[in-house]
Amino acid sequence: MQAGVLRPHLGVGFTCGDEECFELFKDVINPIVQGWHGFDPATQTHTTDLDYTQLVFTDEDAALFAKYVKSTRVRAARNISGFSLPAGSSREDRLAVEEVLKTAFSNLPDNLKGTYYPLRELTSEQEDALQAGGFLFQKPGPMQLLGAAGAGRDWPEGRGIFHNPDKTVLCWCNEEDQCRIIAMENGGDVKGVFTRFCQLSNAIKEAAESTGKKLMEHPNYGFLGTCPSNLGTGLRGSVMIVLPELNKDPHKLEEICAGFDLQPRGSSGEHSAAVGGKWDISNKQRIGFSEVQLVQKMIDGVKKLIAIEEELAAKNDGSKAPPSTELEAENRALRAENDDLKEKLLLYADTIERMQTQFTALQNGYEALKQKATEPTSNEGIKEVLLLSLTLVSAAVSPAHSLIMRCLCRLR
Ligand code: ADP
Ligand code: MG
Repeated sequence: MQAGVLRPHLGVGFTCGDEECFELFKDVINPIVQGWHGFDPATQTHTTDLDYTQLVFTDEDAALFAKYVKSTRVRAARNISGFSLPAGSSREDRLAVEEVLKTAFSNLPDNLKGTYYPLRELTSEQEDALQAGGFLFQKPGPMQLLGAAGAGRDWPEGRGIFHNPDKTVLCWCNEEDQCRIIAMENGGDVKGVFTRFCQLSNAIKEAAESTGKKLMEHPNYGFLGTCPSNLGTGLRGSVMIVLPELNKDPHKLEEICAGFDLQPRGSSGEHSAAVGGKWDISNKQRIGFSEVQLVQKMIDGVKKLIAIEEELAAKNDGSKAPPSTELEAENRALRAENDDLKEKLLLYADTIERMQTQFTALQNGYEALKQKATEPTSNEGIKEVLLLSLTLVSAAVSPAHSLIMRCLCRLR
């Protein structure tokens, strides 16, 4: 729970350090799973279905998605039994996981073949280019889940990315989970991407088992992972989609998405901004539905979003001036942005003022200490001066640190 305590803006803020957590801390995990996914692990069992032929994605759907969707991605978390999860793992564990995965990658069938690139062997230009293309994870900062949960230790050792030449089949090594398997491509062919995802999922399972290991799986929780938001299928099927009308009121977009069990994210990953009105829309739940059902929910929800977007666009076309409700929404969004900025500036000013007070107190304390420091002639006197100076330093440093952290959190 350290991540949630340190960084309250995180969606879940609770991470598991190993497989045993799911038994040991189930009294904490189950309510989180219920709240996030609407699934009760104590009474329900998880089902898996990777039969991609069952997905309903008609030619009409394909044409609609081709028109609106920039790119499609389906990913899931996979972890190997017997090794700690990244938030609890040691350097040895991490390197051992990397070895198992490297062997598994080299055993993949021809249609999924690729190369593994350890992160530390990539130049910063290569790393930046992979991140900009949406292929590679970000370096975990202290404000994010991984940094706060201790999963960024010894970075970049043991981390890496596997991908095929087209970057349509990818695996991440030792990021939030030991392994993230990913199928993605430009355009809106959800069925094609999901088909490749299912093939990769089966192949990674077989390849891991061929090394004598097995994946972390549980009858109630399904595939186990670091964050309780990723249990069950661990599947997030997303489309990058430009929604200029809905983008005018992001708060409303979030509400509409929630109604369809969808989650909107910005254009460069979780907690990022939607640059140019480009949103990453995905299924919110990962458990309680099979893989096929979750991707289907994403398709059906995105179709409804597109219908709303088209309705709004048609309304705008009909009248030269935007309807007053739209202007109101725009005004509301601007006002909210203003309020937010005002609040941040006030906090900043308040922090500076408090630090000023602390520095003045520090300066006064220092002057008093200087006086004392010239007097002592005995060991007792020296001890007193040392104690006084330590008290002074801790009185100044610790509140200043917490003030700065509080301010940083809010400014983000
Ligand atoms: P996850 O936790 O599912 O891996 P993140 O939100 O951390 O997702 O995003 C990882 C990266 O994947 C980001 O760079 C993001 O822009 C990219 N991404 C997510 N969905 C898509 C998509 N449909 N098409 C292209 N890139 C995507
Ligand atoms: Mg992530």
